[in-house]
Amino acid sequence: MNCIDEKLQPIFSEVTRRNCGEPEFHQAVHEVLESLGRVVAKHPHFLDQALIERICEPERQVIFRVPWVDDSGKVQINRAFRVQFNSALGPYKGGMRFHPSVNVGIIKFLGFEQTFKNALTGMPIGGGKGGSDFDPKGKSDGEIMRFCQSLMTELHRHLGEYTDVPAGDIGVGGREIGYMFGQYKRLTNRYEAGVITGKALAYGGSRARTEATGYGNTYFVQAMLQTKGTDFEGKKVVVSGSGNVAIYTIEKVQSFGGKVIACSDSSGYVVDEGGIDLELLKEVKDVRRERISEYAKAKGVGTYFISADKGSVWDVPCDVAMPSATQNELSGKDADTLVKNRVIAVGEGANMPSTPEAIQVFQTAEVLFAPGKAANAGGVATSALEMQQNASRDSWTFEQTEERLATIMRNIHDTCAATAEEYGAPGNYVLGANIAGFVRVAEAMQMLGVI
Ligand code: NDP
Repeated sequence: MNCIDEKLQPIFSEVTRRNCGEPEFHQAVHEVLESLGRVVAKHPHFLDQALIERICEPERQVIFRVPWVDDSGKVQINRAFRVQFNSALGPYKGGMRFHPSVNVGIIKFLGFEQTFKNALTGMPIGGGKGGSDFDPKGKSDGEIMRFCQSLMTELHRHLGEYTDVPAGDIGVGGREIGYMFGQYKRLTNRYEAGVITGKALAYGGSRARTEATGYGNTYFVQAMLQTKGTDFEGKKVVVSGSGNVAIYTIEKVQSFGGKVIACSDSSGYVVDEGGIDLELLKEVKDVRRERISEYAKAKGVGTYFISADKGSVWDVPCDVAMPSATQNELSGKDADTLVKNRVIAVGEGANMPSTPEAIQVFQTAEVLFAPGKAANAGGVATSALEMQQNASRDSWTFEQTEERLATIMRNIHDTCAATAEEYGAPGNYVLGANIAGFVRVAEAMQMLGVI
Protein backbone atom coordinates (compact mmCIF):
# COMPACT_ATOMS: atom_id res chain seq x y z
CA MET A 1 0.00 0.00 0.00
CA ASN A 2 1.09 3.62 -0.54
CA CYS A 3 1.42 5.96 2.42
CA ILE A 4 -1.20 8.17 3.96
CA ASP A 5 -0.23 11.81 4.63
CA GLU A 6 0.82 12.30 8.26
CA LYS A 7 -2.08 14.71 8.89
CA LEU A 8 -4.51 11.96 7.91
CA GLN A 9 -2.77 9.03 9.60
CA PRO A 10 -4.54 9.56 12.97
CA ILE A 11 -7.89 9.40 11.16
CA PHE A 12 -6.98 6.07 9.62
CA SER A 13 -5.71 4.71 12.95
CA GLU A 14 -9.02 5.65 14.56
CA VAL A 15 -10.99 3.98 11.72
CA THR A 16 -9.09 0.72 12.19
CA ARG A 17 -9.44 0.90 15.99
CA ARG A 18 -13.21 1.48 15.90
CA ASN A 19 -13.94 -0.99 13.12
CA CYS A 20 -11.78 -3.93 14.06
CA GLY A 21 -12.08 -7.12 12.06
CA GLU A 22 -13.27 -5.27 8.94
CA PRO A 23 -10.30 -5.47 6.54
CA GLU A 24 -12.24 -4.58 3.39
CA PHE A 25 -13.54 -1.40 5.02
CA HIS A 26 -10.00 -0.48 6.14
CA GLN A 27 -8.76 -1.10 2.59
CA ALA A 28 -11.39 1.16 1.03
CA VAL A 29 -10.76 3.98 3.53
CA HIS A 30 -6.99 3.64 3.14
CA GLU A 31 -7.23 4.05 -0.62
CA VAL A 32 -9.27 7.24 -0.35
CA LEU A 33 -7.10 8.73 2.43
CA GLU A 34 -3.97 8.00 0.33
CA SER A 35 -5.40 10.35 -2.30
CA LEU A 36 -6.51 13.09 0.09
CA GLY A 37 -3.03 14.19 1.19
CA ARG A 38 -2.84 16.36 -1.91
CA VAL A 39 -6.28 17.84 -1.20
CA VAL A 40 -5.60 18.91 2.39
CA ALA A 41 -2.22 20.35 1.36
CA LYS A 42 -4.05 22.62 -1.09
CA HIS A 43 -7.28 23.15 0.89
CA PRO A 44 -6.54 22.74 4.61
CA HIS A 45 -10.10 23.77 5.52
CA PHE A 46 -11.20 20.21 4.69
CA LEU A 47 -9.48 19.19 7.93
CA ASP A 48 -11.87 21.44 9.93
CA GLN A 49 -14.87 20.25 11.91
CA ALA A 50 -13.76 16.61 11.78
CA LEU A 51 -15.11 16.51 8.24
CA ILE A 52 -13.01 13.58 7.05
CA GLU A 53 -13.66 11.67 10.29
CA ARG A 54 -17.40 12.18 9.71
CA ILE A 55 -17.13 10.96 6.10
CA CYS A 56 -15.54 7.73 7.38
CA GLU A 57 -18.34 7.09 9.88
CA PRO A 58 -21.70 5.84 8.54
CA GLU A 59 -24.69 7.97 9.50
CA ARG A 60 -26.68 4.88 10.50
CA GLN A 61 -26.22 1.09 10.50
CA VAL A 62 -29.10 -1.34 10.80
CA ILE A 63 -28.50 -5.05 11.51
CA PHE A 64 -31.43 -7.42 11.78
CA ARG A 65 -32.58 -11.02 11.87
CA VAL A 66 -34.31 -12.53 8.84
CA PRO A 67 -36.25 -15.69 9.69
CA TRP A 68 -37.80 -17.66 6.83
CA VAL A 69 -39.18 -21.13 6.16
CA ASP A 70 -37.47 -23.38 3.61
CA ASP A 71 -39.23 -25.82 1.30
CA SER A 72 -38.91 -28.66 3.82
CA GLY A 73 -40.70 -26.58 6.46
CA LYS A 74 -37.56 -25.87 8.48
CA VAL A 75 -37.01 -22.37 9.88
CA GLN A 76 -33.82 -20.71 8.63
CA ILE A 77 -32.19 -17.60 10.08
CA ASN A 78 -30.08 -15.10 8.21
CA ARG A 79 -28.59 -11.78 9.15
CA ALA A 80 -29.19 -8.65 7.10
CA PHE A 81 -27.64 -5.19 7.02
CA ARG A 82 -28.35 -1.73 5.72
CA VAL A 83 -25.60 0.84 6.13
CA GLN A 84 -26.82 4.38 5.44
CA PHE A 85 -23.46 5.96 4.88
CA ASN A 86 -23.88 9.53 3.76
CA SER A 87 -26.91 11.62 2.78
CA ALA A 88 -25.22 14.97 2.10
CA LEU A 89 -26.10 14.85 -1.60
CA GLY A 90 -29.44 13.03 -1.53
CA PRO A 91 -31.25 9.96 -0.21
CA TYR A 92 -29.01 6.98 0.56
CA LYS A 93 -28.63 4.95 -2.61
CA GLY A 94 -26.91 1.62 -3.18
CA GLY A 95 -27.63 -2.03 -3.83
CA MET A 96 -28.41 -5.08 -1.72
CA ARG A 97 -26.00 -8.04 -1.88
CA PHE A 98 -27.06 -11.61 -1.06
CA HIS A 99 -23.96 -13.77 -0.60
CA PRO A 100 -22.71 -15.99 2.26
CA SER A 101 -19.59 -13.83 2.61
CA VAL A 102 -21.62 -10.71 3.52
CA ASN A 103 -20.83 -9.13 6.89
CA VAL A 104 -20.99 -5.61 8.27
CA GLY A 105 -17.42 -4.79 7.16
CA ILE A 106 -18.15 -5.73 3.55
CA ILE A 107 -21.32 -3.65 3.53
CA LYS A 108 -19.44 -0.70 5.08
CA PHE A 109 -16.71 -0.84 2.43
CA LEU A 110 -19.36 -0.93 -0.28
CA GLY A 111 -21.32 1.95 1.30
CA PHE A 112 -18.16 4.05 1.64
CA GLU A 113 -17.21 3.48 -2.00
CA GLN A 114 -20.79 4.13 -3.05
CA THR A 115 -20.78 7.58 -1.45
CA PHE A 116 -17.97 8.80 -3.70
CA LYS A 117 -19.22 6.91 -6.74
CA ASN A 118 -22.65 8.52 -6.45
CA ALA A 119 -21.02 11.93 -6.06
CA LEU A 120 -19.05 11.33 -9.27
CA THR A 121 -22.25 10.81 -11.25
CA GLY A 122 -23.18 14.43 -10.52
CA MET A 123 -26.66 13.28 -9.52
CA PRO A 124 -28.50 14.03 -6.24
CA ILE A 125 -27.92 10.71 -4.49
CA GLY A 126 -26.21 9.88 -1.20
CA GLY A 127 -24.43 6.61 -0.43
CA GLY A 128 -25.71 3.43 1.21
CA LYS A 129 -25.47 -0.32 0.82
CA GLY A 130 -27.06 -3.42 2.27
CA GLY A 131 -27.28 -7.15 2.05
CA SER A 132 -27.47 -10.45 3.78
CA ASP A 133 -25.43 -13.59 4.33
CA PHE A 134 -28.27 -15.49 2.62
CA ASP A 135 -27.00 -17.73 -0.21
CA PRO A 136 -29.43 -17.71 -3.15
CA LYS A 137 -27.58 -20.55 -4.90
CA GLY A 138 -29.71 -23.67 -5.16
CA LYS A 139 -32.77 -22.06 -3.56
CA SER A 140 -36.22 -22.46 -5.13
CA ASP A 141 -38.25 -19.46 -6.30
CA GLY A 142 -40.53 -19.95 -3.29
CA GLU A 143 -37.61 -19.84 -0.86
CA ILE A 144 -36.20 -16.72 -2.52
CA MET A 145 -39.63 -15.05 -2.29
CA ARG A 146 -40.14 -15.91 1.38
CA PHE A 147 -36.65 -14.70 2.23
CA CYS A 148 -37.13 -11.39 0.36
CA GLN A 149 -40.51 -10.83 2.00
CA SER A 150 -39.14 -11.47 5.48
CA LEU A 151 -36.18 -9.18 4.85
CA MET A 152 -38.43 -6.36 3.63
CA THR A 153 -40.78 -6.79 6.60
CA GLU A 154 -38.01 -5.25 8.70
CA LEU A 155 -36.17 -3.17 6.11
CA HIS A 156 -39.23 -1.22 4.87
CA ARG A 157 -39.28 1.05 7.93
CA HIS A 158 -35.85 2.41 7.01
CA LEU A 159 -36.60 3.08 3.32
CA GLY A 160 -38.45 5.67 1.26
CA GLU A 161 -37.93 7.50 -2.01
CA TYR A 162 -36.63 10.52 -0.04
CA THR A 163 -34.81 8.42 2.57
CA ASP A 164 -33.08 5.33 1.23
CA VAL A 165 -33.43 3.65 -2.16
CA PRO A 166 -31.92 0.14 -2.57
CA ALA A 167 -31.19 -1.72 -5.82
CA GLY A 168 -29.49 -5.00 -6.82
CA ASP A 169 -25.93 -6.28 -6.46
CA ILE A 170 -24.39 -9.75 -6.22
CA GLY A 171 -27.19 -12.31 -5.88
CA VAL A 172 -29.93 -9.70 -6.27
CA GLY A 173 -31.41 -9.30 -9.75
CA GLY A 174 -34.84 -8.59 -11.22
CA ARG A 175 -36.56 -11.50 -9.44
CA GLU A 176 -35.41 -10.44 -5.96
CA ILE A 177 -36.16 -6.74 -6.61
CA GLY A 178 -39.71 -7.72 -7.62
CA TYR A 179 -40.32 -9.70 -4.42
CA MET A 180 -38.86 -6.93 -2.25
CA PHE A 181 -40.88 -4.19 -3.96
CA GLY A 182 -44.05 -6.29 -3.76
CA GLN A 183 -43.67 -6.69 0.00
CA TYR A 184 -42.82 -2.99 0.48
CA LYS A 185 -45.95 -2.02 -1.45
CA ARG A 186 -48.09 -4.36 0.62
CA LEU A 187 -46.72 -3.21 3.97
CA THR A 188 -46.95 0.51 3.25
CA ASN A 189 -50.07 0.50 1.09
CA ARG A 190 -48.25 2.93 -1.22
CA TYR A 191 -47.21 2.49 -4.85
CA GLU A 192 -43.92 4.24 -4.24
CA ALA A 193 -42.07 3.20 -7.40
CA GLY A 194 -39.04 5.37 -6.60
CA VAL A 195 -38.27 3.43 -3.41
CA ILE A 196 -36.27 0.76 -5.20
CA THR A 197 -34.49 0.57 -8.58
CA GLY A 198 -33.65 -2.22 -10.94
CA LYS A 199 -37.38 -2.90 -11.34
CA ALA A 200 -38.74 -4.70 -14.39
CA LEU A 201 -40.24 -2.53 -17.13
CA ALA A 202 -43.69 -3.91 -16.33
CA TYR A 203 -43.86 -2.02 -13.02
CA GLY A 204 -41.77 1.13 -13.34
CA GLY A 205 -38.29 -0.02 -14.31
CA SER A 206 -36.02 1.85 -16.68
CA ARG A 207 -34.84 0.63 -20.02
CA ALA A 208 -31.05 0.10 -20.04
CA ARG A 209 -30.79 -0.32 -16.24
CA THR A 210 -30.01 -4.03 -16.55
CA GLU A 211 -27.26 -3.26 -19.06
CA ALA A 212 -26.01 -0.05 -17.43
CA THR A 213 -23.10 -1.16 -15.23
CA GLY A 214 -21.42 -3.31 -17.88
CA TYR A 215 -22.15 -0.85 -20.68
CA GLY A 216 -20.93 2.04 -18.50
CA ASN A 217 -17.62 0.35 -17.70
CA THR A 218 -17.11 -0.29 -21.40
CA TYR A 219 -17.79 3.38 -22.22
CA PHE A 220 -15.28 4.40 -19.54
CA VAL A 221 -12.55 2.09 -20.87
CA GLN A 222 -13.27 3.27 -24.40
CA ALA A 223 -12.70 6.86 -23.26
CA MET A 224 -9.37 5.85 -21.64
CA LEU A 225 -8.27 4.02 -24.79
CA GLN A 226 -9.13 7.07 -26.86
CA THR A 227 -6.68 9.17 -24.83
CA LYS A 228 -4.00 6.88 -26.32
CA GLY A 229 -5.45 7.09 -29.81
CA THR A 230 -6.90 3.60 -29.83
CA ASP A 231 -10.19 1.74 -29.14
CA PHE A 232 -11.69 -1.75 -28.63
CA GLU A 233 -11.56 -2.75 -32.29
CA GLY A 234 -9.72 -6.08 -32.58
CA LYS A 235 -8.63 -6.12 -28.93
CA LYS A 236 -8.66 -9.33 -26.89
CA VAL A 237 -10.61 -8.84 -23.70
CA VAL A 238 -10.98 -10.94 -20.53
CA VAL A 239 -14.01 -10.34 -18.32
CA SER A 240 -14.25 -12.04 -14.92
CA GLY A 241 -17.60 -13.13 -13.51
CA SER A 242 -20.62 -14.19 -15.54
CA GLY A 243 -23.37 -12.28 -13.76
CA ASN A 244 -25.18 -9.07 -14.61
CA VAL A 245 -22.13 -6.81 -14.91
CA ALA A 246 -20.02 -9.36 -16.81
CA ILE A 247 -22.73 -10.26 -19.34
CA TYR A 248 -23.44 -6.67 -20.36
CA THR A 249 -19.75 -5.81 -20.42
CA ILE A 250 -19.27 -8.64 -22.90
CA GLU A 251 -22.23 -7.43 -24.96
CA LYS A 252 -20.93 -3.84 -25.23
CA VAL A 253 -17.32 -4.80 -25.82
CA GLN A 254 -18.45 -7.04 -28.69
CA SER A 255 -20.53 -4.22 -30.17
CA PHE A 256 -17.39 -2.03 -30.11
CA GLY A 257 -15.45 -4.65 -32.09
CA GLY A 258 -13.57 -6.23 -29.18
CA LYS A 259 -13.26 -9.99 -28.76
CA VAL A 260 -14.05 -11.33 -25.28
CA ILE A 261 -12.21 -14.63 -24.97
CA ALA A 262 -12.78 -15.59 -21.34
CA CYS A 263 -15.17 -15.20 -18.42
CA SER A 264 -15.57 -16.96 -15.05
CA ASP A 265 -17.58 -17.79 -11.96
CA SER A 266 -16.40 -18.68 -8.46
CA SER A 267 -15.66 -22.29 -9.52
CA GLY A 268 -13.64 -21.76 -12.67
CA TYR A 269 -13.29 -20.04 -16.00
CA VAL A 270 -14.10 -20.56 -19.63
CA VAL A 271 -11.74 -19.75 -22.48
CA ASP A 272 -13.34 -19.43 -25.88
CA GLU A 273 -10.79 -18.18 -28.39
CA GLY A 274 -13.48 -17.74 -31.03
CA GLY A 275 -15.18 -15.18 -28.78
CA ILE A 276 -17.74 -15.82 -26.02
CA ASP A 277 -21.12 -16.82 -27.45
CA LEU A 278 -23.29 -14.30 -25.63
CA GLU A 279 -26.64 -15.87 -26.48
CA LEU A 280 -25.47 -19.19 -25.03
CA LEU A 281 -24.04 -17.48 -21.94
CA LYS A 282 -27.31 -15.63 -21.31
CA GLU A 283 -29.26 -18.84 -21.79
CA VAL A 284 -27.05 -20.72 -19.28
CA LYS A 285 -26.93 -17.95 -16.67
CA ASP A 286 -30.18 -16.01 -16.94
CA VAL A 287 -32.65 -18.65 -18.13
CA ARG A 288 -31.26 -21.96 -16.80
CA ARG A 289 -29.48 -20.33 -13.81
CA GLU A 290 -26.57 -22.77 -14.19
CA ARG A 291 -22.78 -22.60 -13.79
CA ILE A 292 -20.48 -21.57 -16.65
CA SER A 293 -19.16 -25.14 -16.77
CA GLU A 294 -22.47 -25.81 -18.56
CA TYR A 295 -21.48 -23.22 -21.19
CA ALA A 296 -18.24 -25.13 -21.76
CA LYS A 297 -20.13 -28.43 -21.96
CA ALA A 298 -22.44 -26.99 -24.60
CA LYS A 299 -19.47 -25.66 -26.60
CA GLY A 300 -17.32 -28.81 -26.31
CA VAL A 301 -14.51 -29.99 -24.05
CA GLY A 302 -11.22 -28.25 -23.40
CA THR A 303 -12.49 -24.76 -22.74
CA TYR A 304 -13.35 -24.95 -19.05
CA PHE A 305 -10.80 -24.76 -16.24
CA ILE A 306 -11.42 -25.24 -12.56
CA SER A 307 -9.63 -22.33 -10.85
CA ALA A 308 -8.20 -24.49 -8.07
CA ASP A 309 -6.34 -26.64 -10.66
CA LYS A 310 -5.57 -24.11 -13.35
CA GLY A 311 -4.85 -20.72 -11.79
CA SER A 312 -7.12 -17.83 -12.60
CA VAL A 313 -8.86 -16.20 -15.51
CA TRP A 314 -6.15 -13.52 -15.38
CA ASP A 315 -3.65 -16.06 -16.74
CA VAL A 316 -5.38 -15.73 -20.13
CA PRO A 317 -3.37 -13.24 -22.22
CA CYS A 318 -5.40 -10.15 -23.22
CA ASP A 319 -5.16 -6.48 -24.16
CA VAL A 320 -7.92 -5.34 -21.83
CA ALA A 321 -8.99 -6.82 -18.47
CA MET A 322 -12.42 -6.07 -17.01
CA PRO A 323 -12.82 -7.60 -13.52
CA SER A 324 -16.57 -7.87 -12.94
CA ALA A 325 -17.04 -10.44 -10.15
CA THR A 326 -16.14 -9.39 -6.61
CA GLN A 327 -13.71 -7.59 -4.28
CA ASN A 328 -10.02 -8.55 -4.21
CA GLU A 329 -10.41 -11.07 -7.04
CA LEU A 330 -7.32 -9.74 -8.86
CA SER A 331 -4.09 -10.07 -6.84
CA GLY A 332 -0.66 -8.51 -7.26
CA LYS A 333 0.49 -11.78 -8.83
CA ASP A 334 -2.43 -11.69 -11.29
CA ALA A 335 -1.51 -8.10 -12.16
CA ASP A 336 2.11 -9.16 -12.76
CA THR A 337 0.87 -11.84 -15.16
CA LEU A 338 -1.41 -9.40 -17.00
CA VAL A 339 1.41 -6.86 -17.35
CA LYS A 340 3.80 -9.57 -18.54
CA ASN A 341 1.16 -10.48 -21.14
CA ARG A 342 1.05 -6.79 -22.19
CA VAL A 343 -2.35 -5.69 -20.95
CA ILE A 344 -2.91 -2.04 -21.86
CA ALA A 345 -6.09 -1.20 -19.92
CA VAL A 346 -8.04 -2.41 -16.89
CA GLY A 347 -11.61 -1.31 -16.16
CA GLU A 348 -13.14 -2.36 -12.85
CA GLY A 349 -16.78 -3.40 -13.28
CA ALA A 350 -16.85 -4.90 -9.78
CA ASN A 351 -16.31 -2.96 -6.56
CA MET A 352 -12.65 -2.99 -5.43
CA PRO A 353 -11.76 -6.14 -7.44
CA SER A 354 -8.04 -5.27 -7.60
CA THR A 355 -5.97 -5.54 -4.44
CA PRO A 356 -3.79 -2.53 -3.49
CA GLU A 357 -0.76 -4.53 -4.67
CA ALA A 358 -2.40 -5.09 -8.07
CA ILE A 359 -3.20 -1.39 -8.47
CA GLN A 360 0.42 -0.57 -7.66
CA VAL A 361 1.62 -3.00 -10.36
CA PHE A 362 -0.71 -1.48 -12.99
CA GLN A 363 0.22 2.08 -12.13
CA THR A 364 3.96 1.34 -12.12
CA ALA A 365 3.62 -0.29 -15.55
CA GLU A 366 1.56 2.71 -16.76
CA VAL A 367 -1.42 0.54 -17.63
CA LEU A 368 -4.61 2.60 -18.05
CA PHE A 369 -6.48 1.78 -14.85
CA ALA A 370 -10.12 2.69 -14.15
CA PRO A 371 -11.16 2.23 -10.50
CA GLY A 372 -14.59 0.74 -9.84
CA LYS A 373 -16.00 3.77 -8.12
CA ALA A 374 -15.70 5.65 -11.41
CA ALA A 375 -15.92 2.89 -14.02
CA ASN A 376 -18.94 1.04 -12.64
CA ALA A 377 -20.93 4.16 -11.73
CA GLY A 378 -23.16 3.69 -14.79
CA GLY A 379 -25.40 1.31 -12.83
CA VAL A 380 -26.27 3.72 -10.08
CA ALA A 381 -26.46 6.63 -12.51
CA THR A 382 -29.10 4.77 -14.50
CA SER A 383 -30.87 3.93 -11.24
CA ALA A 384 -31.07 7.69 -10.66
CA LEU A 385 -32.52 7.99 -14.18
CA GLU A 386 -35.08 5.33 -13.19
CA MET A 387 -36.00 7.46 -10.15
CA GLN A 388 -36.38 10.48 -12.46
CA GLN A 389 -38.74 8.56 -14.73
CA ASN A 390 -40.74 7.31 -11.72
CA ALA A 391 -41.04 10.85 -10.31
CA SER A 392 -42.29 12.24 -13.61
CA ARG A 393 -44.47 9.18 -14.40
CA ASP A 394 -42.52 8.86 -17.62
CA SER A 395 -40.76 6.09 -19.51
CA TRP A 396 -37.88 6.81 -21.86
CA THR A 397 -36.74 4.81 -24.87
CA PHE A 398 -33.68 2.57 -24.69
CA GLU A 399 -31.77 4.92 -27.01
CA GLN A 400 -32.59 8.00 -24.93
CA THR A 401 -31.53 6.29 -21.70
CA GLU A 402 -28.35 4.83 -23.14
CA GLU A 403 -27.41 8.21 -24.57
CA ARG A 404 -27.73 9.73 -21.08
CA LEU A 405 -25.62 6.90 -19.69
CA ALA A 406 -22.92 7.41 -22.32
CA THR A 407 -22.78 11.14 -21.58
CA ILE A 408 -22.58 10.53 -17.83
CA MET A 409 -19.72 8.05 -18.27
CA ARG A 410 -17.84 10.44 -20.55
CA ASN A 411 -18.29 13.21 -17.94
CA ILE A 412 -17.05 10.96 -15.13
CA HIS A 413 -14.02 10.00 -17.21
CA ASP A 414 -13.23 13.63 -18.02
CA THR A 415 -13.76 14.77 -14.41
CA CYS A 416 -11.39 12.08 -13.10
CA ALA A 417 -8.78 12.89 -15.76
CA ALA A 418 -8.99 16.67 -15.17
CA THR A 419 -8.86 16.27 -11.38
CA ALA A 420 -5.80 14.00 -11.58
CA GLU A 421 -4.12 16.59 -13.77
CA GLU A 422 -5.07 19.46 -11.43
CA TYR A 423 -3.56 17.60 -8.47
CA GLY A 424 -0.30 16.83 -10.25
CA ALA A 425 -0.87 13.18 -11.20
CA PRO A 426 -1.95 13.09 -14.86
CA GLY A 427 -3.41 9.74 -15.94
CA ASN A 428 -4.01 8.60 -12.35
CA TYR A 429 -7.74 7.84 -12.44
CA VAL A 430 -7.66 6.44 -8.88
CA LEU A 431 -6.52 9.76 -7.50
CA GLY A 432 -8.86 11.69 -9.80
CA ALA A 433 -11.91 9.65 -8.77
CA ASN A 434 -11.16 9.77 -5.06
CA ILE A 435 -10.53 13.51 -5.02
CA ALA A 436 -13.40 14.55 -7.29
CA GLY A 437 -15.88 12.37 -5.35
CA PHE A 438 -14.58 13.54 -1.99
CA VAL A 439 -14.66 17.25 -2.82
CA ARG A 440 -18.29 17.11 -3.94
CA VAL A 441 -19.43 15.33 -0.77
CA ALA A 442 -17.20 17.40 1.52
CA GLU A 443 -18.39 20.75 0.14
CA ALA A 444 -22.02 19.78 0.64
CA MET A 445 -21.32 18.55 4.18
CA GLN A 446 -19.61 21.80 5.08
CA MET A 447 -22.66 23.77 3.96
CA LEU A 448 -24.99 21.60 6.05
CA GLY A 449 -23.20 22.25 9.36
CA VAL A 450 -22.06 19.68 11.90
CA ILE A 451 -24.74 17.04 11.58
P1 NDP B 1 -24.10 -11.18 -10.01
O1 NDP B 1 -24.57 -11.87 -8.79
O2 NDP B 1 -25.01 -11.00 -11.14
O3 NDP B 1 -22.80 -11.92 -10.55
C1 NDP B 1 -21.66 -12.06 -9.75
C2 NDP B 1 -20.65 -12.84 -10.53
O4 NDP B 1 -19.40 -12.79 -9.85
C3 NDP B 1 -21.02 -14.31 -10.67
O5 NDP B 1 -20.52 -14.82 -11.86
C4 NDP B 1 -20.29 -14.93 -9.47
O6 NDP B 1 -20.00 -16.30 -9.61
C5 NDP B 1 -19.02 -14.14 -9.48
N1 NDP B 1 -18.45 -14.15 -8.14
C6 NDP B 1 -19.03 -13.74 -6.99
N2 NDP B 1 -18.22 -13.96 -5.98
C7 NDP B 1 -17.10 -14.50 -6.50
C8 NDP B 1 -15.88 -14.94 -5.96
N3 NDP B 1 -15.66 -14.89 -4.64
N4 NDP B 1 -14.93 -15.43 -6.81
C9 NDP B 1 -15.17 -15.49 -8.14
N5 NDP B 1 -16.31 -15.11 -8.71
C10 NDP B 1 -17.26 -14.62 -7.90
O7 NDP B 1 -23.54 -9.76 -9.50
P2 NDP B 1 -23.26 -8.44 -10.33
O8 NDP B 1 -22.82 -8.78 -11.71
O9 NDP B 1 -24.42 -7.55 -10.15
O10 NDP B 1 -22.06 -7.79 -9.51
C11 NDP B 1 -20.69 -8.06 -9.81
C12 NDP B 1 -19.83 -6.97 -9.20
O11 NDP B 1 -20.20 -5.69 -9.74
C13 NDP B 1 -19.92 -6.81 -7.68
O12 NDP B 1 -18.67 -6.42 -7.18
C14 NDP B 1 -20.91 -5.66 -7.52
O13 NDP B 1 -20.74 -4.99 -6.29
C15 NDP B 1 -20.49 -4.78 -8.68
N6 NDP B 1 -21.48 -3.81 -9.14
C16 NDP B 1 -22.71 -4.22 -9.57
C17 NDP B 1 -23.62 -3.30 -10.01
C18 NDP B 1 -24.92 -3.70 -10.61
O14 NDP B 1 -25.60 -2.83 -11.17
N7 NDP B 1 -25.33 -4.96 -10.55
C19 NDP B 1 -23.33 -1.86 -9.95
C20 NDP B 1 -21.97 -1.54 -9.58
C21 NDP B 1 -21.11 -2.50 -9.15
P3 NDP B 1 -20.79 -17.39 -8.75
O15 NDP B 1 -22.10 -17.53 -9.46
O16 NDP B 1 -19.94 -18.58 -8.80
O17 NDP B 1 -20.95 -16.83 -7.37
